[in-house]
Amino acid sequence: MHQEEAAPNKQQYQALEEIGRGKFATVFRCFHPSSNQFYALKLINNRLLADATDRRCLEVEAKAMTFLSPHPNILKIIDAFQDAHTSTIVLQLCQPRTLFDRIADGPLPESHAASLTKQLLEALTHCHALGLAHRDIKPENLLFDEANNLKLSDFGSAEWFGEGRTMRGVVGTPYYVAPEVIMGRDYDEKVDVWSCGVILYTMLSGIPPFYGDSAAEIFEAVLRANLRFPSTIFRSVSVQAKDLLRKMICRDPSRRISAHQALRHQWILSTAHLS
Ligand code: ATP
Ligand code: MG
Repeated sequence: MHQEEAAPNKQQYQALEEIGRGKFATVFRCFHPSSNQFYALKLINNRLLADATDRRCLEVEAKAMTFLSPHPNILKIIDAFQDAHTSTIVLQLCQPRTLFDRIADGPLPESHAASLTKQLLEALTHCHALGLAHRDIKPENLLFDEANNLKLSDFGSAEWFGEGRTMRGVVGTPYYVAPEVIMGRDYDEKVDVWSCGVILYTMLSGIPPFYGDSAAEIFEAVLRANLRFPSTIFRSVSVQAKDLLRKMICRDPSRRISAHQALRHQWILSTAHLS
């Protein structure tokens, strides 16, 4: 991570085509000749990072991923370095289609949704047990390796909690963000469980539980937290799946199920292995 090491390190990776883009980062496929391996190269232009908070995100991202590795459902970090202009993170290469693309094709069968939710809950249980909240759980940040295992990625918004430490600050993405985050209250790792519940709802129905024409309207719907299961869409969804949804998309974080408890919910136990 030292500036002096940047040049030799960086030259080991040959950037190929662009495979993704986020708020700050552009992601390329790359080749590493000495290992004969392909990786993903996440490049962040330092000038786009307006303030110290943004720069901190970058340090947190590499640090969090290193800290969490190895875990079967967390994207592996290979290397990280920076020079004056660019910060670079080398990551395990995943398939081009994220969960966002898979959801866009329409609702998923329950067994498939349960298997994906289980893998995300495994990743979250690991993060939370180590005192780290991801804080930006959304389908665009859920990738798949060549064996189709779900990999949680993009730890740029992650934050340490624990020993009674709560978190503050509005982070995340409107559809998936928990109400306590919008309210500007102190919050804890349960914000990730809320987002996971919103993703599960969307996987089962093809529509998000809270929506609106603008970010402000979506926030209002999230704050109302009026969880409904329209019968035309949810008629064929099992009672057990709806029970888990109610426990995850629960307005009161102290009553909301934890990631660890959700893994032991009957719907996950009985449905996830069927896909
Ligand atoms: P955000 O706008 O969510 O903050 P970001 O700028 O931090 O995003 P990422 O979410 O890490 O960037 O990456 C942007 C996109 O690039 C992802 O949504 C995904 O499509 C693609 N991508 C990222 N990492 C990989 C990878 N390891 N393998 C394949 N594609 C990837
Ligand atoms: Mg992202």
